[in-house]
Amino acid sequence: MEILIIAVLIGLIPAAIASSKGKSFLLWWIYGAAIFIVALPHAIIMRADDRAIENKQLSAGMKKCPSCAELIKQDAKVCKHCQRDV
Ligand SMILES: [Zn+2]
Repeated sequence: MEILIIAVLIGLIPAAIASSKGKSFLLWWIYGAAIFIVALPHAIIMRADDRAIENKQLSAGMKKCPSCAELIKQDAKVCKHCQRDV
């Protein structure tokens, strides 16, 4: 029983890393709890999914600058990346 609790807890580590790279937290939690020794280095060396991260930020209220296509805040009047009016 204890080993199961430990597996579930340490599974949070690769899940948190993968989640910050745009991957599914839940799937990586299960993966990390099942085979932590494989999931941890996999999560660390895996490349970030830029499109998934961008979609997450867009749904969190960010918008794309029409000039430089960088993500900026919804209320921004001037882009912080290219300094143009939005
Ligand atoms: Zn811009």
